[in-house]
Amino acid sequence: MADSRSATAAETVVIIGSGPAGWSAATYAARAQLQPLVFEGAISEKNRMAGTLPLGQLALTSEVENYAGFPAGDLGRFLDSALPSDRRMMMPPHEGHGVTGPELMELMRQQAVNFGTRIVTDDIERVDFSRRPFRLFPAAGGEITARAVIVATGASANWLGLPSEEHFKNRGVSACAVCDGALPRFRNRPLVVVGGGDSAVEEATYLTKFASTVHLVHRRDTLRASKIMAQRAIDDPKITIHFNQALAEVLGDDARGVTGVRLESTTERGRTTEVEAAGVFLAIGHTPNTAFLDGQLELTAKKYIVWKKHFRTDTSVEGVFAAGDVADDYYRQAISAAGTGCMSALDAERWLAHSHG
Ligand code: NAP
Repeated sequence: MADSRSATAAETVVIIGSGPAGWSAATYAARAQLQPLVFEGAISEKNRMAGTLPLGQLALTSEVENYAGFPAGDLGRFLDSALPSDRRMMMPPHEGHGVTGPELMELMRQQAVNFGTRIVTDDIERVDFSRRPFRLFPAAGGEITARAVIVATGASANWLGLPSEEHFKNRGVSACAVCDGALPRFRNRPLVVVGGGDSAVEEATYLTKFASTVHLVHRRDTLRASKIMAQRAIDDPKITIHFNQALAEVLGDDARGVTGVRLESTTERGRTTEVEAAGVFLAIGHTPNTAFLDGQLELTAKKYIVWKKHFRTDTSVEGVFAAGDVADDYYRQAISAAGTGCMSALDAERWLAHSHG
């Protein structure tokens, strides 16, 4: 891993974030001879709990059926040849399905490395965009200066904020079925998934591999998920959908962890039911990872970075670009994140070429 922390020479372009947007930006920037430096995030318990580990949200998903160019098939030999053995051996064997999120992310990372991208496995905790070159402050200490910056820090899972949810985090409450679903405590037990979008349906479907039954709890009477995904959940005999219900409380005790949930009707005030469950998985949307910017870029009311020019990735600070879910609350797809990652590198390249920064 390279780490060029020079007090004097500014980096040409620093990319913060390591999801599809970050790696796509890095590949394009590297091929444009901009010698990008990527801060991929730290591998820490704090980031694990927040869902902000390196490789982004896609690394927390299972099979990716809709990323163009990856139809189902046996990718095993390709992965063996494309990835370095030390990273390949950390991944589960490929089982003849389509590409998985972690596989796709490793491939994107490697593609960026192949063109000379340098990577630091750390978070940027703070930035100073008030003067040039821009200053970035890594969690491990020191300071990086950069002529251009691409922010691609993505978004992370939301929580309901119930005291009982907080109490049972890591003891049956999770926001990532793919990370935690295979734990022994969930095997052959009833599980609850909260949410009605694609993530909730995907998590519920994934959990049917381990659970005796999955209760999908949604606050309205129709799922938000795409039709094909919603139909899959409706047709799955192991999934029971509880419409017009909200999670009121996670039930359990310190010895056993989660033992069930109390649901409250969203249409009949005060009407509650209890459902036995060994685990509760939240899938209720995401919040963009923009807190570290400390108000230095213009944000929307929902804290997404504002793209200031139509069909460009420019932010409110000239020379700082944004890509992927950190600026996109509309499409929020891996492929659209990768697309804006590419755009941000081209925007940075053109901005630098006009002798800015
Ligand atoms: P989402 O589409 O925003 O759905 C969030 C769900 O959580 C909604 O059903 C929402 O209910 C519910 N929700 C939000 N706040 C809640 C609260 N406080 N209490 C109870 N329920 C609450 O988020 P997502 O499912 O994470 O998907 C994000 C994006 O990623 C989408 O564009 C999606 O298409 C994409 N995605 C795609 C795939 C795939 O194609 N394989 C997989 C996962 C995600 P309401 O419906 O009532 O608002």
